Amino acid sequence: LQRRLLVHEQLTSLGRLAASVAHEVGNPLQSAMGCLELCQADPGLSAGNREYLDLALGELERMSRTMASLRNLYRPPEITWEPVDLNQLLRQVTRFTQRQLQRAKIKVYLHLAERLPMITGQSDALRQVFLNLLLNAQEAMANGGRIDITTQAKSTDRMCVVVVQDTGVGMSSDQLVRLFEPFQSKKAQGVGLGLYLSRQIIEQHTGHIDVSSQPGQGTSFTLQFPWSDAGPWQRPDADDDEVELED
Ligand code: ADP
Ligand code: MG
Repeated sequence: LQRRLLVHEQLTSLGRLAASVAHEVGNPLQSAMGCLELCQADPGLSAGNREYLDLALGELERMSRTMASLRNLYRPPEITWEPVDLNQLLRQVTRFTQRQLQRAKIKVYLHLAERLPMITGQSDALRQVFLNLLLNAQEAMANGGRIDITTQAKSTDRMCVVVVQDTGVGMSSDQLVRLFEPFQSKKAQGVGLGLYLSRQIIEQHTGHIDVSSQPGQGTSFTLQFPWSDAGPWQRPDADDDEVELED
């Protein structure tokens, strides 16, 4: 399961990266082709230059087809914003990862606020964010340890706060400065996109993420999301439609 989750995370990250590069390159490419087509229509064009223009356009079209197929690598799911109960989502994600964390001698403790307001969010994307935080924590605790997940309703600025704390190797201040930049992985098989993409997702939710860490002292990530205005408060006994754990 762990491998499958990791591979999924990495493929999704790479697909998104490829798609966003294709998108960034695709637009200027289209306008360059448009300009060249305008030149092509010039009746005073010498035969030699017309040939060069045709060649250039042919090459750009080829590039544009490659970009289109890259873009199709990652089809973003229909983005739907819905009321999300962070407590329930965190229970799901810890259930997902429970077995592999147990095997890694890691204990997970949930300290969930009794009444947590809903947020407006994309639950798939948020699951991805917390999954990455848990896997990072696991990878920071090669000899086992503990993860504490705390939620809190902060009424002063109407935010839901989630803290994910581990007892792992921690990070130096150098590492912290670049933590949310892409490709900052210290792992042999890491891609280094997890936190970069996580921050993008969190910012799409108009939330923020902070980190505090010291080498050898563990790491703590604090995430904040604005309360949804319309959403109801969670009932303390809200049902769990949790995903079944697979092997
Ligand atoms: P990846 O997991 O692919 O390496 P991430 O963006 O998820 O990429 O993390 C980037 C880097 O930040 C990791 O390689 C690791 O060095 C460091 N890191 C992230 N989370 C933790 C943590 N909880 N404890 C220690 N280091 C961490
Ligand atoms: Mg990661």
